[in-house]
Amino acid sequence: MTAANLAGAGLETILLDEKLAWEKPCGGGVTYKAYEKYPFLFENQTEKKVVTDSYIGAHKTGPVRMNLNQPLLIFSRKALNQLLLDRAERAGAQIEQERVTGIEQREKGWRLETRSGRIEADYVVVATGARNPLRDVGTAWTPEDTMVALGYYIPATQEHIDIQFLDRLEGYIWVFPRAGHLSAGICGRGETAQQLRVRLERYLDEKGINWRQGQLYAHMLPSLARRSWRGNRVSGHRWMAVGDAAGLVDPITGEGIYYALRSGDLASQVMEAGSFDPERAGEEYRARIEEDFLLDLEFGASFGQKLYLGRFLFKSIPSCIVAYMRRCPKLYEVMQDIFSGTQDYLTLRNRLFRNINGTVNEALVKFMFQRIIPEPPVGLRATAR
Ligand SMILES: Cc1cc2nc3c(=O)[nH]c(=O)nc-3n(C[C@H](O)[C@H](O)[C@H](O)COP(=O)(O)OP(=O)(O)OC[C@H]3O[C@@H](n4cnc5c(N)ncnc54)[C@H](O)[C@@H]3O)c2cc1C
Repeated sequence: MTAANLAGAGLETILLDEKLAWEKPCGGGVTYKAYEKYPFLFENQTEKKVVTDSYIGAHKTGPVRMNLNQPLLIFSRKALNQLLLDRAERAGAQIEQERVTGIEQREKGWRLETRSGRIEADYVVVATGARNPLRDVGTAWTPEDTMVALGYYIPATQEHIDIQFLDRLEGYIWVFPRAGHLSAGICGRGETAQQLRVRLERYLDEKGINWRQGQLYAHMLPSLARRSWRGNRVSGHRWMAVGDAAGLVDPITGEGIYYALRSGDLASQVMEAGSFDPERAGEEYRARIEEDFLLDLEFGASFGQKLYLGRFLFKSIPSCIVAYMRRCPKLYEVMQDIFSGTQDYLTLRNRLFRNINGTVNEALVKFMFQRIIPEPPVGLRATAR
C-alpha cells in the first residue's frame, strides 16, 4: 500500500520482501470497513470468497445464525499479497525479493544490508510483520502483547463462516471458507500453542471437518495490552512502522489486514505531503494513526479480556452474548456491525445503552455490558466516530 502510493506520487520507491507473495498464516478475512475504504480490494479479478452467512457459537450454546449485513471477503494470502504487489509495481515501485539482514542509521538516512548488497535510503517504512527481525524499529514485544494463532488449511468447502468462543479462553476459533479450501484456526492468550491446537482439533472433529488432511500453520498475532499502546514504537527518526510490525491489530477480533493497509496508507500520506519534513514525519504519522484508529484500539484493549473471560449470571460473557443475540434484535444488529467493522469500540457502550433499553432481555444485556465496557475517557467521547 505504501509503496503503491509513494511510487504513484513520483517518489523513488524500493520494496524489499524476502518472500513476496506467499501464504502468510492467516484467516484472510477482509471486512467491509476495509473494502469500503479501499474498493480495489473488492473490484479485482483475484480469486476470493464473498461470504454473507455466519454461525456464532459459544460454550454450551448452540450456534446462532447471523446474516452478515455486509459480506466478508476471504482471500488466500498468497493471492492478496500478489494483488498488493502488482498494484505497487504498476505504480512504478521497484520490487525486489530480498531479505533485509540489517539496517544502519546514517546522518541523513539509512543503509540497508541485504544478501546481495547494500541499499542507501532517505527514509524507511518497516512492514516486516509480527516477527520483525529488525530489533530497534517497530514494536518492542512483551509476551503480554501477543496471542498465539495457529490453524489448518483444509481441502474442503462450505459457504458460511463459523466463529466459536470457548470456555475460559481469551480468544476464539474461526472456520473461513476460501476458494478451494478452508482456513480453520484458533487464536488465544494464556495457553500454549499445543493446548490451543488440541482445542481446535477437538472442535473440528466435533464438526466433522477432517483437519488430518490439512496443512498446519502458526504465527504470532499482535494483541497489545492497554498500557502498551502508549509507549508503542510506531515511528522514530526517519522511520515509520506499519501493520503488524507496529502492533496495529485489533486486540479483540485480531483483525490486522485493514490496519496494515490503513497505516501503510497514512504513512505514505505523511511522506507525500508538500510539507514533508523527514525529521518530523514520525510524529506526524503517530498523530494521524492515533486520530484515525489507534485510540479506538487502545480503548478496546481495556475491556477485551473481560469480554472473553468475564461471567454474568453464572455463564461466560460470550455464551450470554450468543444467547441474547437470539432474543434481542438490537444486539444482533450491533454484532452484525462489529463483524463488518463499522462499529468502533469508543461508541459501543453509548450505542448499546441508547438503543437497548426496552424489554427484560434488553435490560439484562444493558446491565451485562455496563459491567464490561468502561466509559470512554473524557475527550475521546466527543471524537468517537
Ligand atoms: C493465524 C492468523 C490469522 C489471521 N487472520 C486474520 C484475518 O482473517 N483477517 C485479518 O484482517 N487479519 C488476520 N490476521 C492478522 C493479519 O494476518 C496481519 O495483521 C497482517 O498480515 C499484517 O500485515 P503486515 O503486512 O503488517 O505483515 P505480514 O503480512 O506479516 O507481512 C510481513 C512481510 O514482511 C516480510 N519480511 C519480514 N522480515 C523481512 C526481512 N527481514 N526482509 C525482507 N522481508 C521481510 C515477510 O516476508 C512478509 O511478507 C491473522 C493473523 C494470524 C497469525
